[in-house]
Amino acid sequence: MKYLDEFQDPDLARRLLDDIHSVVTRPWALMEVCGGQTHTIIRHGIDQLLPDQVELIHGPGCPVCVTPLEVIDKALEIASRPGVIFCSFGDMLRVPGTGRDLFQVRGEGGDVRVVYSPLDALHIAQQNPDREVVFFGIGFETTAPPNAMTVYQARKLGIKNFSLLVSHVRVPPAIKAIMESPNCRVQGFLAAGHVCSVMGVGEYPELADRYRVPIVVTGFEPLDILEGVRRTVLQLERGEHTVDNAYPRAVRPEGNPAAQAMLADVFEGTDRAWRGIGVIPDSGWRLSSRYRDFDAEHRFSVGDIDTREPAECRSGEVLQGLLKPNECAAFGTTCTPRNPLGATMVSSEGACAAYYLYRRLDITTAPLEASPVA
Ligand code: SF4
Repeated sequence: MKYLDEFQDPDLARRLLDDIHSVVTRPWALMEVCGGQTHTIIRHGIDQLLPDQVELIHGPGCPVCVTPLEVIDKALEIASRPGVIFCSFGDMLRVPGTGRDLFQVRGEGGDVRVVYSPLDALHIAQQNPDREVVFFGIGFETTAPPNAMTVYQARKLGIKNFSLLVSHVRVPPAIKAIMESPNCRVQGFLAAGHVCSVMGVGEYPELADRYRVPIVVTGFEPLDILEGVRRTVLQLERGEHTVDNAYPRAVRPEGNPAAQAMLADVFEGTDRAWRGIGVIPDSGWRLSSRYRDFDAEHRFSVGDIDTREPAECRSGEVLQGLLKPNECAAFGTTCTPRNPLGATMVSSEGACAAYYLYRRLDITTAPLEASPVA
C-alpha cells in the first residue's frame, strides 16, 4: 500500500536500528506524547529492538485517557436526560466514569449514538429539531479544528439545538508540566506529527531551550518512530537540544493556518484537568464567549459532580511515564479491556490497552482472562 509499506520496510528498519546502536554510548530516556505512536512502538516491538540504553517512556498522549473523570461523569449525566441525543466517537463509550459508562447509559434507555464526525451530530440536530443534540468534543489539537468548525457551522446555520461538551487539551503545556515534575526522567521528546501538522512547530523551540531537551517531530509508522528515535539520540549524544522535523511529508513549520484561525475564532485558552495528572495551567480550550450558547456544560447546568476513581487504578502514573502498564497489579487480572478500571485500558490509543493487546502473553505473573480482547 502506497505511503504505508514504504514506512514498514524491514531492511530499512534494520539499517536505522544499526545506526541507533552505533551512536548510543550511555542511557537515554525518551518520551512519545501520542497514543498512536505508543501503539506502533508496542505492536512492532520497537522498544525491544532498541539498545538497552534507550528507554521509551509513554507519555499522556491518548486523548481518551486524559479526559478527566469529571467530564466523563458530566457526559453520563447529560446523556441520561430525556430529550437528549448524545453523540460521541465510539472510543468514549467504554470509558469508565464513576460507576458506569456511556454503554450502560444506552442500556438504561439513554439515546447515545456513535458518530464518525462532529458534522454527523450536527446533521442529527437538523433532523431532530425537537431534541437537544450534544457532541462529546474531546482530544488534542488534532480533533479540535473539526469540532470548532462544527460549532461555527451551527451558529452560521442558526441551529439552536446543538451543543458541544468540550474537553480539549494541548501538548506543549503537558510537556512543560512533565519537565517540571520532580520525578521527571525524560531527556528528549518525540513530538506527535499530527498535532504539529495542525499547530506547526512554533511552540517547541522555547521548550527545547528552557528544558534543554531535543524535540523531534515524529510520524506514526515503524520507520518514522525509528527515525525520530535516531535523531533524538544523535542530538543527546552531541549535547544538542533543538527542534527537528522528522515528519516533513505531513508537517510544515507553520502548520495549518486555516485550522489555527478556526480554533482562534471558536475557542479560548483555559486551565484543564488531565485525568490521573491534575490541572495543568493553560493546557486546553473552551468555547469562547461568542460561542458560549453552544457549550453543553452551560446549557445543561451539570456543575456538582461527585467523582470517584477506582483506588487500584494507577493510570495517572502510567500517563506520566512513571509506571509501565504491566507493573500495575490490576493489569490483566481485575483490569482488562472487557472490564476496564481506567481509560488507558479501554482506549484504542491507551498504553494499558497496547500492552494488553501485544504484550500480555509475555507477562507470566498474572493469570489472564480467558475471553478474547473486546
Ligand atoms: S492496568 Fe488498568 S488499573 Fe492498571 S493502570 Fe492500567 S487501566 Fe488502571
